[in-house]
Amino acid sequence: MRLKDKKIIVTAAAQGIGKATALQFAKEGALVTATDINEEKLSDLQKENSNIKIQQLDATNKNAVEEFCSKVETIDVLFHAVGFVHHGTLMDCNNDEFKRSIDVNIYSAYLMSYNLVPKMLNSGKGNIIVISSAASSVKGAPNRFIYGVTKAALNGFVKALAIDYVKQGIRCNAILPGTVETPSWQGRVNMAEDPKKAREDFIARQAMGRLAQPDEIASLATYLASDESDFVTGTLNLIDGGWTL
Ligand code: NAD
Repeated sequence: MRLKDKKIIVTAAAQGIGKATALQFAKEGALVTATDINEEKLSDLQKENSNIKIQQLDATNKNAVEEFCSKVETIDVLFHAVGFVHHGTLMDCNNDEFKRSIDVNIYSAYLMSYNLVPKMLNSGKGNIIVISSAASSVKGAPNRFIYGVTKAALNGFVKALAIDYVKQGIRCNAILPGTVETPSWQGRVNMAEDPKKAREDFIARQAMGRLAQPDEIASLATYLASDESDFVTGTLNLIDGGWTL
């Protein structure tokens, strides 16, 4: 019970990394509120663990986030996993696609934090964990132009929050995964011209020669959410099977 009675809000909790993390947090004794834009899949999550509270939430919708957060009295941890992978180079990324990625990958983190940090300041403690990516300020990945740009911005976001609130008991850290076998990753592979080759290429680029499982990312998140990591803030935690070696 490494997270006993910690109040944790998870975004993008209906599948993939967010779902695995919500389940692991609950198993470690946390009081989890799982949010996602996809209400149907959130209900499936609750069937797996009925102690998890669920709430439909579009983390890019200012009014919805404000309303949701106004009902939060206290919070120990925000785990923010909302993200979208746009495929392509600069010249594949039109104005709308650029803005959408900024919205989903960065604005959502701002909105959630802007509305929850005041509660953390009130209680004199707080902890924000965001899911960034190795494809960011750490590594250029082919055909990940706006994705890499926005994830690099998230790395800066974490450093900025960490320095501004370190004296007020709030920590902020990022997790930077390599390739993780999640439904959206599977979808990207299936859309490739040659899905079999696409899968092999993804596996080959990680030095360990395999993909990460969402539970492995959840384990790192559990450490960062727990008091075991109390001295850790402003860090960019790579978990990439050696992709960036
Ligand atoms: P996923 O696509 O499997 O799940 C994403 C979830 O986010 C879905 O349940 C979806 O409904 C939800 N969502 C989308 N837009 C939303 C919004 N506006 N508000 C609320 N919820 C919304 O995702 P995943 O592969 O587990 O990725 C989770 C995070 O990890 C993302 O930020 C992604 O960029 C990052 N990441 C993933 C990988 C990977 O290989 N899968 C690698 C590095 C980083």
